[in-house]
Amino acid sequence: MSARVLVVDDIPANVRLLEAKLTAEYFDVVTAASGKAALDIISASPPDIILLDVMMPQMDGFEVCARIKGDPRTAHLPVVMVTALSDSSDRVRGLEAGADDFLTKPVNDLALFARVRSLVRLKMIMDEWRLREETCGQFELLSTTAALDADDGRNARILIVEQNATVADKIVETLATAGHRTTVIESGGEALDRSRQEQFDLIGVSLTSDSDDRLRLCSQLRSQDETRQVPILLIVDDWDTNRLIKGLDIGANDYLVKPIDRNELIARVRTQVRRRRYQDRLRANYERSLSLALTDSLTGLYNRRYMTRHLEGLVQRMRESGKPLSIMLFDIDGFKSINDTYGHAVGDEILRHIAQRVAGNMRNFDMVARFGGEEFVVLMPDTPGDVAFSVAERLRERIGGEPFAVAGCPHPLDVTVSIGIAAASRLDAPDDLLKRADAAMYQAKTGGRNRTVAGDAPTRDRPPMAEATQPAR
Ligand code: GH3
Ligand code: MG
Ligand code: MG
Repeated sequence: MSARVLVVDDIPANVRLLEAKLTAEYFDVVTAASGKAALDIISASPPDIILLDVMMPQMDGFEVCARIKGDPRTAHLPVVMVTALSDSSDRVRGLEAGADDFLTKPVNDLALFARVRSLVRLKMIMDEWRLREETCGQFELLSTTAALDADDGRNARILIVEQNATVADKIVETLATAGHRTTVIESGGEALDRSRQEQFDLIGVSLTSDSDDRLRLCSQLRSQDETRQVPILLIVDDWDTNRLIKGLDIGANDYLVKPIDRNELIARVRTQVRRRRYQDRLRANYERSLSLALTDSLTGLYNRRYMTRHLEGLVQRMRESGKPLSIMLFDIDGFKSINDTYGHAVGDEILRHIAQRVAGNMRNFDMVARFGGEEFVVLMPDTPGDVAFSVAERLRERIGGEPFAVAGCPHPLDVTVSIGIAAASRLDAPDDLLKRADAAMYQAKTGGRNRTVAGDAPTRDRPPMAEATQPAR
């Protein structure tokens, strides 16, 4: 992992020391000797992580951190405060400014690398989501709706794995002051079960000094789907550095050292909870924009692009399995005159109602899509041509048999459709199928509309052409 680390410190010796340590571990290191210089570098070319000295002249570390976290373009960059002060009020002040972690000088090498790796790994995940967002052109929307600041990180569901009742009580009581609801569980196995049954925003795991059971729990939490994304906060004894580093390598997100400082506990939980929720929002946003790209906004049905891609997959599967596949293409009859008589808005309403009626009358695994204008396509896997024909007839009756009551129109409207059917053969490309269904639909139109026509089979031994009509109302 060749991450770019920005080291900010006003004392050249400190900068060189961290630079040497990180370079030896194959990180790319950039340095800045003041808060101002750091902000310039960050805006010109953002690093993957920032190691920030607290005590600096002019602009101190707290202020630099607050500026980084206050700017939506840089708020996602992880910041580690490096401080000579081990005073907990300073740590809390930094976390309040949005810092992601602390290192105390002199910096412990193993803790430094584990911490930097853990934060960089998290940032990579976030970058991936941000990239997808940008690809979808939704990023502007996102930066306003999903900003990290939009959430106070309170009222979370928290699971704590801790066998010491005194420590557990203190944690529960402290977290309650920040509005969190906490469940305490003593055994790792039980915690794993519980984490599958219930959704937690954070899991705190106390590492026991006598065995590696809790590390195994962390690794299990990381590998099971239900908890893969849930932040893990380790609770460790001061001297148990080796286990702590293993835990961070397994994928724990943060840690607290006993005896637990109440303010630090609240601040670290808040940071993780906010980050988790931010990630959830990114994902939800992504899924929403994805669905926008796949569906038709007027009817909510799948759009032509998605339907075509899905059809390719179905045709491929039909070739492999030999199972039948049929498609139906239908077009509303005389739709132009509906628009002309009642207006475009009523036309739109009709399209929506038809989409609903069709979707409600098909099986779950049939796919209904808007092909364009007033044309629709239904893909019917595992369906031979004769069955597709009767399905189409039933659908045609459902549409033509009951007038549509739509907003903006004084009386219910009779609407009919003309349907073309095509049953796939192994010789078919997806496009051939669509063309045959379209040709059949065209025959239904020229044959008088409000009818279903089954398209010609592509082989010589085609079945007899079927046709059915229903008198127009
Ligand atoms: P036919 O029975 O031959 O299909 O006649 P038609 O009038 O339905 O067909 P034509 O292709 O002449 O007209 C289709 C009309 O559908 C014209 C177009 O303005 C209208 N249309 C296409 N998309 C929409 C839409 O999204 N909303 C509305 N309201 N009308 C649409
Ligand atoms: Mg039409
Ligand atoms: Mg048309």
